Order: sequence, then structure tokens, then C-alpha cells
Amino acid sequence: MSKLFKRTKILATIGPSVFGADKVEEIIMAGVNGCRLNCSHGTNEERDEQIKWIRDAAAKKGRSVAILQDLQGPKIRLGTLKDNHLDVVAGDELILEAKEDFEHDGGKTVPVQYNLAEKVKVGEPISMFDGKIKSEVVEIVSDTAIRVEIKNDGFIMSKKGLNLPETDFGGDILTPKDLEDIEYGAGQDYDYVALSFVQTASDIEKLKQLLLSYGSTAKVIAKIETKKAISSDENLEAIVKAADGIMVARGDMAVEAGAEVVPIVQRKLIALCRKSSKLCIVATQMMGSMVESPEPSRAEVSDVASAVIQGADVVMLSDETANGKYPLEAVKEMKKVILYTQNHSRVAHISELPTGKYEVYDAISDTAARLAERIDADVIICQTASGTTAVTMAAQRPNVPIISVTANARVANQLALTYANSAFVRPYSATFGFDLGAELKKSGYLQLKDGEKDLLAVIVSGDKDKMGTDTIQIRYI
Ligand code: PGA
Ligand code: MN
Repeated sequence: MSKLFKRTKILATIGPSVFGADKVEEIIMAGVNGCRLNCSHGTNEERDEQIKWIRDAAAKKGRSVAILQDLQGPKIRLGTLKDNHLDVVAGDELILEAKEDFEHDGGKTVPVQYNLAEKVKVGEPISMFDGKIKSEVVEIVSDTAIRVEIKNDGFIMSKKGLNLPETDFGGDILTPKDLEDIEYGAGQDYDYVALSFVQTASDIEKLKQLLLSYGSTAKVIAKIETKKAISSDENLEAIVKAADGIMVARGDMAVEAGAEVVPIVQRKLIALCRKSSKLCIVATQMMGSMVESPEPSRAEVSDVASAVIQGADVVMLSDETANGKYPLEAVKEMKKVILYTQNHSRVAHISELPTGKYEVYDAISDTAARLAERIDADVIICQTASGTTAVTMAAQRPNVPIISVTANARVANQLALTYANSAFVRPYSATFGFDLGAELKKSGYLQLKDGEKDLLAVIVSGDKDKMGTDTIQIRYI
């Protein structure tokens, strides 16, 4: 079997540049394993349409594709400015006003989409427009308005984001918009829900409870991008533990905490996720120059390769696919870098043992992954009901593709983002392993190279009514 199987996955943000089922199909066939729908832009109706495009394309091509709903969180944005634009100079004072029907007249009182007066304190910094304009709170003017002093010359534009790195949201980061998006989204076909600007583990616990109350089976991703989240190793570890996975959200993290912290936090988070069997997504500006150019920069190629070597499950495309001129090329370039890197370099070793209790399935996965490499197996096949066995197997970062066999289509879509995994949906069987090879070949799932008769497989399974995953078999299939 060809080992040219992409182990690090690609998550692509869907936007105007991939409009329609055909375009979605094209990027999936070029290597996209999951699609991000960003609640910061567009309407529910648009997202419903996008979900349909993705599901139709995936079904047509017989692929599992994950869909991720990205909640805006307290990403506070300016309102609409007169002429879309306002020049500011150092020393200017602006009033940020949160009254609903307030209209900007071109003056120094500008609308903002969130009532900052309830959360900020005098002396706290606020940066605007992706950090381009810095300011400081000098006065809480009323119940709905604050005054800030601008620190540098430049301009602001309508709807640009504000970052408040020192502001404590007091465990209340879900905005009214998020609550609506969560309730609406729970009725749609989402595999993952990501929350922006997470500060502590309790933000994630609240989101999980809400999703559960609406009957959603989506997994939860914590976007790591606030100064508070990365303020201590303990806080970071608690967030990782509470979530099903994390996103290294480098765009806002750089604005909140300084660009220089990002590479170290990225390494720390990937290692933490690997030892706790959580999904790890590296995001933002991975192929940023491809928004305008058909080729990535050398630094971008190196950035993607580094994420692969560090062992990220997923690398993400944002504006490159959402609004860029070359969405398809960005996916193809990213896939090329992933394949070359995985085939010429091992994923870096992490020394620590898994955090928490070392379960039987951890031991089985550890053993099976090493065994598969030692006997030069073509494939690891693992039977998984909830996805746990497949995820812990992936956490070993084996140099061998994993086929996870599950009866649950939701689990299969979720595993589309998991390292090295490719899911096969079929009913549960207690005699797993004996009948499977022929079935996988017949369905075209396992393709043999010319001259190849059979494949050496390490098969991991268990009886779900007994102790679960408990068996490792070696078989030619
Ligand atoms: P965003 O998150 O694209 O939703 O802002 C990612 C990031 O901040 O890097
Ligand atoms: Mn962000």
C-alpha cells in the first residue's frame, strides 16, 4: 500500500473564495480533511448552505470530512464608521459607545458592538485593527461608553476587531451572539465547535454543558489566543484537559501577547496535546502570502513543515481559502509540504508519558504503534466506537497510516482531523479482524500497489460489552 498517505490534516476556512459545491469538492479532492465555518462572518443561512455543499461533496467522493463551527467569542468589533474610515493620531481621545442605534457622524465618538463599560478598567490597554492602533482606557464615561487615549498615528476601519489583553471577562466570555450561534448550531451538522478567546477551563466546561443540553455530539476546541489562557502552564493544562482539542490561534495570540511568544507556545501546546491525546490545530498565516500570490514564501513552507515535525494533527488555512485569490493552490502547496516532510523526517519525539491515568487503551495503542513500526506493517486498523482508541493510537504519532473502523458516522467525520486517521464506517462486529481485509479491499478503501498481494496489518480491537480494546492481532489481509 502506498505510504504516501497524508498524516497531518488540512482544515480550510470556507468563504467567498470557495463558493458552491463544485469548489468545495475541488478543495476536498486536493487534500482538505475539514472545513471551518466562521461565525464572525456571514449568516446562518449561508452556513447551512455551506454545510450542504460539504456533506454532498464528501458523500459523492466517499470521504469523511469534519465540519467545525468557529464561535466568535468576545471578539469585540467596532461598528460602522462614517465613510468606513477614521484617521487617528497619538494623543487623540476616542469615546467607544455601545448604544444600539448610535450612528457615527465622522467624529471622535465611535460605535462598538459590545458594552465595554461593563468589563474594562481605567488603565487597561485596548488595541484595534489587529494591533495596528494601540490605546488605553482613561475613563468609564457612562453605562455604555468609555474613553480611550490613542497611542500611535494611523487609522481605524468599520467592523475591525479590538483586543483587550488585560481585561478579565470574569468567566463570562460567551456573548449573546455566541449563545444564539450555539443553540442554532446544535441543530445543524457540526462535528466540532471551537470557542474563541478562551481564558480558563470553565469557559470550555460551560460550552460543553450548553452543547449537551441541546443534544449536540460535537467535540469542543479551545482556541488559545488570550494572554490569560497562556498566563501559566497550570491554566493552559487545565484548558487542554477540559477540551477535546485546541487551536493555536496565532493571529490574535500575537496581538494579545506579542508575536515573539507564539513559536514557544505552539511547541508547548502541541506537546501537551500529544501527551494528553487531544487534537491540536495550528492556525493562521500558514500560507498567508497565497492570499495574493500563487506560490508560498520560503518562510511559510518552513512554518508548515515545522508544524508537521512538531506533530500537529492539523494545519489550518484561513484567508488563503476563505478570501484568497488561490484557494486551490494553497491547499495543493500545503499538501505537498506535508507529504515531503512526513516522508523525510520523523515526528519529533516527546519524552513525557501521557498525563493522567495510563489506561489499558493507552498501553494497547502504545504497544500496537511500536509493533507496527518494528514489523514494517502497511497499516494499523483499529476498531473504535467512540473514537478514543483511534485518538490514543494517533497520539503515538506512528509512521504508519491508521484505518479506524467505526459504526458511527459522526465519529468518522471527527476522526477526519485526527493525525494519520482515515475512517471506515461499518457495523460493529465482535469477531473483528477476520473478515475485514476483504471488505476494505472490495470497497476500494485499501488499494494495493502493482504486484502486491496482501498487506501486513496490525489490528487493534475489543469487545465493547467486555473490557473494550484488549486485543492486538498481526495479519496479512
Ligand atoms: P480567528 O482565529 O481567525 O477566528 O481570529 C484564529 C487566530 O486568531 O489566529
Ligand atoms: Mn482569533
